[in-house]
Amino acid sequence: MTEIVKKDLLYKGKAKEMYTTNDPDIMWVHYMDQVTAFNGKKKVQMAGKGQTNCEISALIFKDLANHGIKNHFIKQIDSNNQLVKRVKIIPLETVVRNFASGSFEKKFAVKHLMKFDKPVQEFFYKSDELDDPFINDFQAEALKVATEDQMNQMRAIALKVNDRLKEIFSEMNIDLVDFKVEFGIDSDNQLILADEISPDSCRLIDRDTQKSLDKDVFRKGLGALVPVYKEILGRLEKVEDVK
Ligand code: UDP
Repeated sequence: MTEIVKKDLLYKGKAKEMYTTNDPDIMWVHYMDQVTAFNGKKKVQMAGKGQTNCEISALIFKDLANHGIKNHFIKQIDSNNQLVKRVKIIPLETVVRNFASGSFEKKFAVKHLMKFDKPVQEFFYKSDELDDPFINDFQAEALKVATEDQMNQMRAIALKVNDRLKEIFSEMNIDLVDFKVEFGIDSDNQLILADEISPDSCRLIDRDTQKSLDKDVFRKGLGALVPVYKEILGRLEKVEDVK
């Protein structure tokens, strides 16, 4: 592979910057030392946060690829930077839940961490102005956000991701409460997993202490976030078959 060189800033999100490179099919992702919540209303700079998430996401995406789940990850460049396949992101957040929390708990007024008999799957439409509303398949098709086939593919892949993530976190003595993933369409017109998987986008509960080991620490002001994310990375690095 010829050496990949970072070029222009294409998009700056809440936690990552995306740059073009000298290869039109490859993007350069920079994980920022920034954390936001409540649609960007709460925002803080935190040294070490970008590096930790960059490393966690790289380990998880590599593992998912090893388990047959195609994704955009190519390689980690250095502590805060990685290369990914260029995709056109489908503007949906695909959520899978194993226990009630967050918006589900609030919407249906159920007990915190009520265990579901089978995973609950939801889609949200990515729109800061609309505050990421819930969206169903018919609405997504009507808005031409995704086809029926793509919705079915995203649902099936998200459930496979859930199965593997549950296994990994179980080895880390952690319950996977819920998580969010995003998908994109690559240059071969294939739908693949994209974005990141980290404690920014998962709810994780320590099985012994019942404490949150994810962004809820920041959302709820429960203490320092980076040591918690480092704890996740440390446990992940010890999982036998995650490399
Ligand atoms: N989530 C995310 N980005 C968002 C909204 C949610 O990564 O913009 C994740 C969140 O961390 C949790 C899961 O998706 O793991 C379900 O979130 P929920 O719908 O409960 O929304 P919240 O109450 O967190 O806004």
